[in-house]
Amino acid sequence: ELDTAGWQALDSAHYLHPFTDHANLAKTGSRVAVRGEGVYVWDNNGDRIIDGLSGLGCVNIGYGRPELAKAVYDQMLDLSYCQSFFNTTHRSAVELADTLTSMLPEGLNHVFFQSSGSEANETAVRLIRKYWDLVGRPEKRVIIARELAYHGSTHMAASLSGITPMHYAGGDLPLPGIARINTPYQYRHGANMTADDFGVVAARWLEDKILEIGPENVAAFFAEPAQSAGGAICPPMTYWPEVQRICRKYDVLLVADEVVCGFGRTGDWFGCYHYGFVPDIMQLGKGLTSGYLPLSACVISDRITDVLIGLGGEWAHGYTYSGHPACCAVALENIRILREEKIVENAKAELVPYFKAKLETFVDHPLIGDVRSVGLMGGLEIVKDKKTGESYLYEEHIGPYCSAEAMKRGLAFRANGDTMSLMPPLVITKDQLDTVFDIAREALDATAKHLGKM
Ligand code: PMP
Repeated sequence: ELDTAGWQALDSAHYLHPFTDHANLAKTGSRVAVRGEGVYVWDNNGDRIIDGLSGLGCVNIGYGRPELAKAVYDQMLDLSYCQSFFNTTHRSAVELADTLTSMLPEGLNHVFFQSSGSEANETAVRLIRKYWDLVGRPEKRVIIARELAYHGSTHMAASLSGITPMHYAGGDLPLPGIARINTPYQYRHGANMTADDFGVVAARWLEDKILEIGPENVAAFFAEPAQSAGGAICPPMTYWPEVQRICRKYDVLLVADEVVCGFGRTGDWFGCYHYGFVPDIMQLGKGLTSGYLPLSACVISDRITDVLIGLGGEWAHGYTYSGHPACCAVALENIRILREEKIVENAKAELVPYFKAKLETFVDHPLIGDVRSVGLMGGLEIVKDKKTGESYLYEEHIGPYCSAEAMKRGLAFRANGDTMSLMPPLVITKDQLDTVFDIAREALDATAKHLGKM
């Protein structure tokens, strides 16, 4: 069990982020990327990096697809901007909204665009609170989120995030009205149970929290289907159906942050399909455009929009770049390519089992305590003691050390605390995956030597 100090140590290792000062590169030691193609990025020294992270869960179809560049070019010549404040929209936004709602579960029929995942989460919170106001239950205010979650960097999104150093990064966060429960992190919280039992136990933490606060005060539960933040924390299959049942029982809105899980990361098109649940609101980002341009979407159920449009009439919320034409055109082209080339289906059939098998070869590594994955999101957790699961987190930042060793060898391999994460592009080949895992092993071996474990 992690205590508060443990969470903070884990969080600060997780967020050992240098401040990239674009005006003083030498000072911050920042790398300058100059080109990307497929799963590779080159820097201005000519070094090639294999992107084991798809940017950060973005570049699912790989870098440098000319069709996407052309879609932007054509759109910009046709219509380069469209304001959305005076009830105006444009063809690409309409087509994209139709495409998204046709891909998503029944009832999720409404789309609000903005530029980033953080903004989509802000939109979701404003929608939720407006909804409960309009139905005459303004006391339903509290939003329950999870430990180690990441939902973005704006004030509300950072408050929803369970990353304590973000709360101290200025801004007196978290904002009021947020409660937190643990993640379904079986290695840390339920190693003595079967996965099925643990899924139900972890879902009941939500029920306990709702009852503690009083269901009449709880507005929503907010979570990633599989939590990329914190290091690929993948729930058992029993978790989400039980969470859905609990949310319905207490009339708590269910909000799925699919900014990372959406568009194939879990092996299915969306995390909600993989885990078998239907949210009231879903946030999409990153994979929506494969990172080619900034676009996010808040997909909203009939239940909420019926009230918002039916009773409220107006909703004073929006951004200058909501549904920018070029971004929508890129998203449409990205989805066309994903569908035509069956990228998600092929990844599921060919790559996911290979990825999982490769990850599992690390079970015997002297540093690895836990191996976990869903789809092409995987985590290898470094521990001090394989038997007890004791962690290095209280002492030193081992994850970032391993990450730096991988980068020296040309692999982007991220440390979330002491969990080493991989989220390769969905178009990676098995040969390229072999390279990823060869370098990952070299980096872990170098870390083990550093620690005197090899
Ligand atoms: N939600 C999740 C699950 C994320 O991983 C991120 C970004 N890492 C965000 C939201 C925030 O998205 P953005 O950085 O586009 O604001």
